[in-house]
Amino acid sequence: MEERMIELVGELNRYAQAYYEQDQPLVSDQEYDRLYRELVQLETKHPEWIRPDSPTHRVGGKVLDGFSKYPHVYPLFSLQDAFSLEELEEFDQRVRKEFPHVQYVCEIKIDGLSVSLTYEQGVLVVGATRGDGQVGEEITENLRRVQDIPLRLAQPVDITVRGECYMPKEAFRDLNQKRELEGETSFANPRNAAAGTLRQLDTQVVSERKLATFLYQVASPWEAGSQEAVLEDLQQLGFVVNPLRRTVASMAEVWDFIQEIQAVREELAYEIDGMVIKVNDLAMQEELGFTVKYPKWAIAYKFPAEEKEATLLSVDWTVGRTGVVTPTANLSPVQLAGTKVSRATLHNRDYILEKDIRQGDTVVVYKAGDIIPAVSYVVLQKRKPESQAIAIPSHCPSCQSELEQLEDEVALRCVNPQCPAQLKERLSHFASRAAMNIQGLGPSMIEKLFEAKLLTSVSDLYRLQLEDLVALDGVQAKSSQKLLAALEVSKQNSADRLLFGLGIRFVGAKASRLLLEKFESLPALSQASEAEIVSIEGIGPAVAQSLSHYFSHVEAQLLLEELATVGMNLNYLGQKKVADGILTGQTVVLTGKLSRLKRSEAKAKLEALGAKVTGSVSKKTSLVVAGEDAGSKLAKAQELGIPVQDEAWLEKL
Ligand code: NAD
Repeated sequence: MEERMIELVGELNRYAQAYYEQDQPLVSDQEYDRLYRELVQLETKHPEWIRPDSPTHRVGGKVLDGFSKYPHVYPLFSLQDAFSLEELEEFDQRVRKEFPHVQYVCEIKIDGLSVSLTYEQGVLVVGATRGDGQVGEEITENLRRVQDIPLRLAQPVDITVRGECYMPKEAFRDLNQKRELEGETSFANPRNAAAGTLRQLDTQVVSERKLATFLYQVASPWEAGSQEAVLEDLQQLGFVVNPLRRTVASMAEVWDFIQEIQAVREELAYEIDGMVIKVNDLAMQEELGFTVKYPKWAIAYKFPAEEKEATLLSVDWTVGRTGVVTPTANLSPVQLAGTKVSRATLHNRDYILEKDIRQGDTVVVYKAGDIIPAVSYVVLQKRKPESQAIAIPSHCPSCQSELEQLEDEVALRCVNPQCPAQLKERLSHFASRAAMNIQGLGPSMIEKLFEAKLLTSVSDLYRLQLEDLVALDGVQAKSSQKLLAALEVSKQNSADRLLFGLGIRFVGAKASRLLLEKFESLPALSQASEAEIVSIEGIGPAVAQSLSHYFSHVEAQLLLEELATVGMNLNYLGQKKVADGILTGQTVVLTGKLSRLKRSEAKAKLEALGAKVTGSVSKKTSLVVAGEDAGSKLAKAQELGIPVQDEAWLEKL
C-alpha cells in the first residue's frame, strides 16, 4: 500500500506540473481527481506514510521564471471537493454542529484561475496569480489588459480582492482555430488557455485574447456581515460579479440549485465545473477557520464528469497534410456532453503504448471544453481476454510507403511528398478561409476531383474547366460556375495567403505575412538564403530551415512557374489591399434585374473591390454577375464558360 501511495504522489505531481506549469494537461481533470481521492483515502488510513511532497498538502503549482515572485499578504486557498449529495451533507453536519442555523451562499464554480488584485486609494497597483497560495507571480501588466478589470474603483479604497479569470467559450474556440491554422498546439480547455495567456510575456497577446473575470472575495479586512454583502460591495466598486447565485438555508436547497445550473450549463458563455457553497455569515466563517489547504467554511461540489465508458471497436489511422499519421478510435456510440460520440482521438502511437490501450477494451472517453473527444484511459477491470493490441502501422495507409518516426517527435510520419492523402489534405488547407479562401472547394469536392484524376497539385485547380466539373457525379452547373469564379477571384490574393496555403512545415499565416512583407514576392523569397530569412524579426530557425529546404527542390521552383503561368498573383499586396482589391484585374459584366441593389450601386461596389465593369461579354470577361431575367449576356457567358455569380454573392463579397 505504501508503494501505491508513493506511486500516486509521483504521478499526481507529474500531472500537476504539466497542468499548472505548462498549461498542457496530460490527463482529464476527472482522472486526476480520481487518483487524488485514492491518495486521500490511503493517507487517511495510513497517516504515518504521508509523504512531505504529497499534493494533498500543497496548493496549486510553483512560481515560474519570467515573472517576479509576489508574496501574498493574504494567502490563497484551494477548496475541499465533494462529488455527491452525501458528501455535501457530511460537510453540512460538521458546520451545523457549531452553527445550527447556518445559511449558505451558492456560487457557480468558474473554470478559470484565481487572481488576486490589490488596489491603493482605488487604483490597481498589483495583480498576481495564486501560485502555491503563499507566493504567486506578479502579472499586473497582463491583468491591466483584461478588459473588465477596473483600473480605478468607484471609491478610493485600499483593498485586496480575489476572483476567477477565465476565457469565454467563444474566445477559446477562435483562439484554438487560429493556433491550429498557424501550426501551433491547441489548448486542451479554456482554463489552460486562460492560464497560458496570463503567463504571456507580451502584454499585446493578452489584449487580443479576450479574457474576462468574476470576482468573489475580499481578502483584506473589510466591514461586511456576510458573503452576500461582500458580493454586492464588489459590484458597487465596479467589479463583475456572477449573477448566478443563491442564498439558502439547507443542503436540499443547495442540491436544487445545483440541478438548475447543471441544466443550463451548456448554454453559458463560459465553462463552469461545479458549485462553490460558502457559509454566508463572515463571523461564522472566521470561527470555523482553515485546514492547511482549505477553508472549513466552504466546499466545492464538482459536476459529474463529462466522461463515459465505451468499447473501443477499431482504430483508423489518417494522414494529415504534413504527413503525420494519427490514430482515431471508433467507439460504441455514447451520449457525451449533449452530443453523440462514436469517434475519439488516441493522440499518437506513444500514447497508445504508454496507456496500453487495446482493441475491444472498455475505455473512458472525455470531452473537455469544446474540444474533440479523447480516450482517457482503459478500465482494466473490464478488460476481456480477447482484447487485442492495436496494430501500429509500419506503412502509410494511403500510399503504402514506409512510415518514419523522427527522433524528436512522438508522431509517425509519411515522408512521401506525392502521398495522395497528404495531397488532399494540402488542397483542403490551400482552399481554407485563412489561406486562399476558395468557397465551394471542400473535402468532398476535392475527393471527386481526385477520383476523376483532375488534380495532382494546386496549380491544376486553375486549369479546371466548366465541362470537367459538370461531368463529376452530383455536381451542378451552378455550383461549378461558382467554384470557377471563386478560383478566379483567389488568383488576386496577396502572395502571403498563397505562401501559407502551400502548407510548408512551420510556415503559418503570421510567418507568411512577415516573410512577404520583407521579400515582396514569392520568387524573391524562393531565392533568399536561410541566413537572410532568419534575420527577419519574428522568424525563427525552424521556419527558415524549412523554407530553404522546400525551395531547394526543383519541384517547388516548377510549381512557382506554373502558378505564374495560370495567372496567379505572386506579389505581396499588403493586408489592406487584400480586402479592398479582391477583384483587382478582373473585368466584370452586370446583367439582368437586381432586386436589392441599384445597378449604379452594384457597379460602384464592384469598382470599389478593384474590378473594371464593362457592358458586353467577351472572352476577356472574367466574371458575370447576373440578376433575375438575365438574357443574352448570360447565355453568351455560359457559352464561353465564363463564371457567373448572383446578387447575393456580390453582397456577401
Ligand atoms: P479547485 O479547482 O478544485 O477549486 C479551487 C478554485 O476554485 C479556487 O482556487 C478558485 O480559483 C476556483 N473558484 C471558481 N469559482 C469560485 C468561487 N465562486 N469561489 C471560490 N473559488 C472559486 O482547486 P485547484 O486547487 O485550483 O485545482 C485542483 C483541480 O485542478 C483538481 O481537482 C483537478 O480538477 C484540476 N487539476 C487537473 C490536473 C490534470 O492533470 N488534469 C492536474 C492538477 C489539477
